[in-house]
Amino acid sequence: MDEPVIKTENLCFVYPNRTSALEDVSVEVPRGKKIVLLGPNGAGKSTLFLHFNGILKPRSGKVLFNGEPVGYGKKDLEELRSKVSLVMQNPDDQIFSSTIEEDVAFGPMNMGLPMKEVEERVCEALDQVDMFGLREKPTQQLSFGQKKRVSLAGAIAMHPEVLIMDEPTAGLDSRMVHELLELADELNQKGLTVIMSTHDVETAYSWADEIRVMNKGRIIYSGDPDGFFSDGQRARNIGLTEPMMFDLNRTMSRHNKVPTDPYPRNIFELNQKFGQHRGAMGRLYFYPTSDLSGETIKTIRHMMPQAAVGLIGSRARKVGADLGLQVEHRFDTYDEALIEVGHGRDFVIVGDENWRKEIEVRLDALGTAFGATVRLMRL
Ligand code: ADP
Repeated sequence: MDEPVIKTENLCFVYPNRTSALEDVSVEVPRGKKIVLLGPNGAGKSTLFLHFNGILKPRSGKVLFNGEPVGYGKKDLEELRSKVSLVMQNPDDQIFSSTIEEDVAFGPMNMGLPMKEVEERVCEALDQVDMFGLREKPTQQLSFGQKKRVSLAGAIAMHPEVLIMDEPTAGLDSRMVHELLELADELNQKGLTVIMSTHDVETAYSWADEIRVMNKGRIIYSGDPDGFFSDGQRARNIGLTEPMMFDLNRTMSRHNKVPTDPYPRNIFELNQKFGQHRGAMGRLYFYPTSDLSGETIKTIRHMMPQAAVGLIGSRARKVGADLGLQVEHRFDTYDEALIEVGHGRDFVIVGDENWRKEIEVRLDALGTAFGATVRLMRL
């Protein structure tokens, strides 16, 4: 099995005021996965994250990065932090420079990269969080959500192996939460390990490949989300509720007299399990963002006047908006495509080329569930 990218062994940490925040924490962060660290407030999540990139030093126990114990010398820490990027809960703890671009450039400059590369990374990162247009703006004038984006851009610009986000969705409106989770997916598809903390069970359940659950400074569960919530008492004991999708699946499985396993994590998978296809399916098309232009949009609309259009990926959303593309679905496009196609309506997914493989995999599963083949085509 692949070695975990981060691992701790019997980690203990006590704050100067004698609060014991970590007790015997042995936890593994598997490489290339999407991990949620779930736990109520005060569980020790932030404290654990501060150990992952060496900001805090354990009282006892070890932190290992790529199998090597973390060193606490200046050089070791610089090296570690270029590979393990932490986005703190409060962006004011992280933003120091007077303009956005200076702030995002800070980390890459510190790494001693050539100026040209620093600039490229800053532009790319600001583009990814949709802040490029504001790059010269003073950081003091930003809203909370914008500050969160800037601190995320700063972390992405390091091109880390591991991206850690401490309560990234807290305080964001629902659209920004969608955008953030989608960006995290995109980064993960490029090979980054992404780990985020939250006390929101819905995010943990629908987004994570695996979860680690903390309470009172201890890890109380490591594994897939279903395993944790299957014992409902366990979540309630630490003040968490069951995710809505988990609850819905249990009830629907009982009514339909089918096993609760597999556990759908989103509407798409729920439909796969319980959806019954009646009548003709719509056709589904994939259209790459890179081929989108005023002309091709007209062609799409002309060829398929009844089709619904949905976007997948941050690039698609941006290009679509720039070109004035009228879309029916901006988020949850798989779910929406499934529902529309299942009800006989044609659907065009406009997405970045690098999403194509994932879309194909998802749609294969959809085809199997409906006993029909869904063809993925280019216009
Ligand atoms: P979480 O991120 O899960 O909310 P934290 O890691 O922030 O949990 O906190 C774990 C425990 O450590 C809590 O009891 C909290 O009050 C305490 N704590 C956190 N930061 C400090 C600090 N700087 N000084 C003293 N105690 C702290």
